[in-house]
Amino acid sequence: MDSRSFAARLLAWFRQVKRPLPWRETGDPYRILVSEIMLQQTRAQTVIPYYRRFLERFPDAAALAAAPESEVLERWSGLGYYSRARNLQRAARQVVETGRFPADFEGLLALPGVGRYTAAAVASIAFHLPCAAVDGNVLRVLARVTGERGDIGSGRTRARLEEAAAGLLDRRRPGDCNQALMELGATLCLPRRPRCLLCPVSRFCAARASGIEEQLPVKLRKTKTREVELTLALVERRGRVLFWRRDGDRARMAGFWELPSVEQLPAFTALSELGTFRHTITNHRYSVRVLRGTLARAPRGFRWLAPAELARLPLSTTARKALALAGWNLQAG
Ligand code: SF4
Repeated sequence: MDSRSFAARLLAWFRQVKRPLPWRETGDPYRILVSEIMLQQTRAQTVIPYYRRFLERFPDAAALAAAPESEVLERWSGLGYYSRARNLQRAARQVVETGRFPADFEGLLALPGVGRYTAAAVASIAFHLPCAAVDGNVLRVLARVTGERGDIGSGRTRARLEEAAAGLLDRRRPGDCNQALMELGATLCLPRRPRCLLCPVSRFCAARASGIEEQLPVKLRKTKTREVELTLALVERRGRVLFWRRDGDRARMAGFWELPSVEQLPAFTALSELGTFRHTITNHRYSVRVLRGTLARAPRGFRWLAPAELARLPLSTTARKALALAGWNLQAG
């Protein structure tokens, strides 16, 4: 394949369709790192308000390093995958301790919570280094473009695709090239029904030439999802709602406030069902039912929280969704 023509067509397309996202208006590696960490599991449109609020409060690594963890979690609240926020703060502290922001791939990779993809993305976008950033979207595009039929979950296939990515990278504009491939994967080269007629690189695409674009990439391994049923109790008293806080330093979601489950409140009397919703965290799929009810006395360790406190404290996403069913909207934004 003529990699120069491939990159030229890809970049020309990207210039036309590039969305004006706030992290594309900065060359500050800290801000680019924040955006990349937020984008790891979340769509760009969802990230925008969180990104703005986060940087308003923590405009640089020093501000983030010095902040109490509860404030960091509060600004992250609603984005989910909170270990990302904790790692980001640890990374900021490392930057402050060493007195400089790492400016190469290896240095970035040594920051807590930064994997190969994020290190390559920041290195290429902020420092213009020729590092190919290969995430799930990019793997899919490359598997199709190169006609890769190996299992995308295997290390060997991945290594082949990473090599292909490095070969296709325009070394003069690696940041744009990486972002263009990600954009292509996010908007046209979709998992199902890729929009090949609009694709700027369709003439180079092996899968398209063979008519097998919907069959690639090949995925053999499946992670099992665990179904969990949960019933939450929403107890209100004089405009306050009953909550508990997850403890433990290292536990997932430590420091977050949750609505109690009915099992935690043996004396709870249900009055009505507010509704149900689903929520997925890693490989757990929760079916959550929310009951409104009463309770004579709150057990030890529980707290009545007023709306003003709820807006300030880090709440779990399940708690937010449950409160929304009762008409309390505490979304960040
Ligand atoms: S031609 Fe289709 S399958 Fe190939 S890269 Fe473009 S959108 Fe993806």
